[in-house]
Amino acid sequence: MIAFHKPYLLKEFYKETWTRYENAAESDLFQTLESEAGAWVESALRAVRGYEKIPNVYWTHSATHALEIMALALELGPEDEVILPSFTYVATANAFARTGARLVFADIETDTLNLDPKSVERVMGSRTRAIIPIHYGGVAADLSGLAQLAKQSGAWLLEDAAHCIGSSQAGMALGGFGAMGCLSFHKTKNISSNGSGGCLMLSDTALKARVDEIFYQGTDRAAFLRGETTAYKWKRIGGDFDMPALSKFYLAEALRHTERVNDRRKQLWRRYAEAFVPLVEKGVLRTAKIDAGAEGNGHIFYIQTRDVLTRRSLKAALFENGIETVTHYEPLHLTGIGRKIGRAADHMTITEDAGETVLRLPIYPQMTDSEQEKVISEVYQYYRKRGFIS
Ligand SMILES: *Cc1c(COP(=O)(O)O)cnc(C)c1O
Repeated sequence: MIAFHKPYLLKEFYKETWTRYENAAESDLFQTLESEAGAWVESALRAVRGYEKIPNVYWTHSATHALEIMALALELGPEDEVILPSFTYVATANAFARTGARLVFADIETDTLNLDPKSVERVMGSRTRAIIPIHYGGVAADLSGLAQLAKQSGAWLLEDAAHCIGSSQAGMALGGFGAMGCLSFHKTKNISSNGSGGCLMLSDTALKARVDEIFYQGTDRAAFLRGETTAYKWKRIGGDFDMPALSKFYLAEALRHTERVNDRRKQLWRRYAEAFVPLVEKGVLRTAKIDAGAEGNGHIFYIQTRDVLTRRSLKAALFENGIETVTHYEPLHLTGIGRKIGRAADHMTITEDAGETVLRLPIYPQMTDSEQEKVISEVYQYYRKRGFIS
């Protein structure tokens, strides 16, 4: 079976992690261990191109937690609206929904499946407090278009960059353009921590004091640790978000492989995109544009079939031939809960089409050229058998 995904996990990551952990644990009390782990993972992230200039990074259990911090930091309530894509993972919606804010789903663009500024503009209003794009598959959304709308409406631009480790635009990491952004190190992503992990990247330093408190149970513990107060107090609603030290040591090792992992993924991405050009030209299927792969991190390679039935039968045919493929997001605005707590733009056609037609193909650094050849030839075989191509 050619798996859809294999986490990039080396035994040496665990060995290194354990050595660092033991050394740090011997050196002093837990406090030192924690600060050493934090400094260690931070330096590993800063060594990846695009992350040098992010003002503040907070390590979290998951990207979900980073999104929850963002939502808390905006102090949203039932009178407030946040605009997000419907074609996203539930975590983007959950984080903001639990503050009581109204979710407003906008449509996406055909080429990238990213939030469409034109659709955002149509749903934007005086209650809009945040615009939250995701960068699907590590390919940037239209950041300048969305930033302009955010400015126009006085809303925050926040980025769900969960897919994006290693993706940048003009030298700045995705997730570093908005006021806040997050990365995910879940095992399904390009680089993973010890099973799960994430971080919040804070670029708008006006929010720093607030986020510092939220991060430590809504207290001024950060100020206390700096010796500015003698005891710490409860100041606002917060939570327990800090990534455990062991995971930080592990993630630091994994992060050093970012470029290697992404280069191989991008190579596989380009190979897929080139191989399917004839099918795209015949109108048999659609893929992202080839130049999208060059800018991204090869997190996702997807094709779009003509309709949901074709997707189902192609997926089944590939599975019978030992290839695992995976569909993607069910549009959130079509779910019962999505309808109840949110509203959607009047046209959600690209989103609804993507929900029915996107099929993701296997892509990960351990995948061999011959495995990829097999995937490509089985896709061709499927369309040949059905007479779409000769
Ligand atoms: C994976 C993912 C998340 C959640 O990441 P976790 O680290 O698992 O919490 C959020 N948003 C998007 C778009 C994702 O793909």
